[in-house]
Order: sequence, then C-alpha cells, then structure tokens
Amino acid sequence: MDFERFPVALAEWFRANARPLPWRATKDPYRILISELMLQQTQVSVVEPYYRKFIRRFPNLKAIARATESELLAAWSGLGYYRRAKSLHRLARLVTTLPRSRDELIRLPGIGAYTAGAVASIAFGENSPAIDANAHRVLCRLFAKHLTFRECEEHCRRLMQNADPGEFNQALMELGATVCTSKAPKCEACPVASFCNAGRKGSAQKFPHKTKPLKSVRFEEVCAAPVAGSRIGLRKAEGDWWNGMWAFPTVRIASGLNPLTAARKEFGSALVPMQPLIYHVTRHRVTLHPFLARRRTKNLRWFTFEQANELAMPSAHRKVLRQVSVLLRRCAKSNR
Ligand code: SF4
Repeated sequence: MDFERFPVALAEWFRANARPLPWRATKDPYRILISELMLQQTQVSVVEPYYRKFIRRFPNLKAIARATESELLAAWSGLGYYRRAKSLHRLARLVTTLPRSRDELIRLPGIGAYTAGAVASIAFGENSPAIDANAHRVLCRLFAKHLTFRECEEHCRRLMQNADPGEFNQALMELGATVCTSKAPKCEACPVASFCNAGRKGSAQKFPHKTKPLKSVRFEEVCAAPVAGSRIGLRKAEGDWWNGMWAFPTVRIASGLNPLTAARKEFGSALVPMQPLIYHVTRHRVTLHPFLARRRTKNLRWFTFEQANELAMPSAHRKVLRQVSVLLRRCAKSNR
C-alpha cells in the first residue's frame, strides 16, 4: 500500500471537520501542555470549562510556581487524578519555559512519551509521534495488525514525514475520537478508507486486540461531617488518592457491616445519616456513607462553608459538603 497521500487526505479532513476546541487555537506550549494533562483519562466535554478557568487563573508556569500546592489542587478540584496537578506544580518550580524537544520534555515531572510528543509536535513542529488510545486504534486498523505503542510510533514517524507533525498527530487522534471509534467505526464516511486494510476487509472491530479489563474492586466507607455552629471540620487527607487535600474524616468498613453501626463505633452516636454516594477511582468503585456529626473528632480544622468551597477537596467530599449545607439550611428554616 502506498501511503504517500495518506497525510494529505487526513489533513484535508481535519481542517474541515476538527472540533473547535480552545487549545487548538494556540501554539503556546504551556497551554498545550495543560490541555494534554487535563485530557488524560478525562473527556473533552469535562475538560473544556476547567481548561478555560484554569488558564485565566494560571496564565503561565510562573503563576503556577507562585501558587501553593493546595491552591493548585483547589483549581484542579473535580478533574480527578490529582497526581497530574502535583507533578505540574513540581514542574513549574523547576522550569519557567518549556524545552522544545520531546527528549527534554520527557525528563520533566508528570510528562510521559505521549504528552512530550504532543507538546513537541504541536507547539514546536518536531517530528514526534503522540500515540494515545485513539491514534493507536486507527494505526492498528490501518495495518490490520495489533501493534504495540512503540511500533505505532515508528509507523507514525514514517507517515508524518512530509506533513505538519502537530496537525498530523491531532488529526489522527481526532479521527479515532470521532470516526474510527472503538465500538462503531464509520468506515463508509472515513477520509482514509482507501488506505485502510481492516476497513477494506470489514475487520475493523478485530483491532486492536482487546485486553481483559481489570476486575473492578468494590468497597464501602463511612465519613463524618462534623458541624459546630456555622463551621465544618475537615482533615488533611493522607494516602495515595487524596494526599494533601481536605476531606471529612473517613474510614473503610468491612463488607457486610451496617454503615451506621460502623460509623457510631468510629465517630460516636450523635450522627445523622445523609444520602450515600458512589465514586470511582481507577478500577475502584466506592460507596461512601456520609453522616452529619455533632461530636468533635481529633485533628480537625474548622472552616466556614465559603472557605471550604475554596479548598482542594475530592469531588465525593465536595458533594457531602453540599448535602451538609442543604441539611443545615433546612434545619434553620424549621427552627424559625
Ligand atoms: S476505514 Fe474504518 S477502520 Fe479504517 S481508519 Fe477508517 S474508520 Fe477506521
């Protein structure tokens, strides 16, 4: 198969069909980096409003370096995967200007092969592949073969030789996100169908080979939302998921244990049950049972609701905070 015209067909389609996303209107390496970090594990529709707000608050790396880690985490709040924000903070304290090459970018905290390739190609025009899951899927189907990410990079380098590397990478990913989708590839409307082996053979769904999904891990937690007057008590969380963020005192409970019984044992008997909620972190599915608590537990800092709203909190605990606020307003009304 002759792929000479492949980048041309791809670029023409991309120019006419690309979604007008805010990070596509810039060559600023900082803005491209922020968008790429936010887009890891997170959908475009979720990222867009966060990206706009974040760029207004932190227009460059210097602004991030001046902020505390807590301030940065608060701005990242709701996007999840907070390790990205922590690495970004470390990066901003190391450099004020991003290096131009993939090899230098990849040495910075939180930047992997994909992100380095995306920034180097889009902002600086370097001939660097950026293989995300979408690009990987398109390339596997194009060659009707299950390829490793490393093999995809090699194919990509060859295919993009006479193209604008940044546009090529973005076009390949956009094609995977909107046309060559995982479950329903639109081969009849595909701009590169004439180059595609799997498309021609009707075997697109066979590629890439499916890896067995990791089994989801389920467990339950109870948390206490301590209230004193118009203030609520929070703790600095520790551990892998929320380290350094503010959260309600929380404990994991043994499966089958009644949440109220478990909560009483941990937080005392003056508890009011609130609405349980479910949250997901990687392959974990957690049911959180929140309780309004009157008893003071140790190691708390007390905040007004306005102050708490500005803190870096895990989304699930922010939802609990909202429940507490509604509950207290209702109680205040009924006491009038
Ligand atoms: S022809 Fe089908 S399988 Fe091939 S790239 Fe296009 S949408 Fe994907």
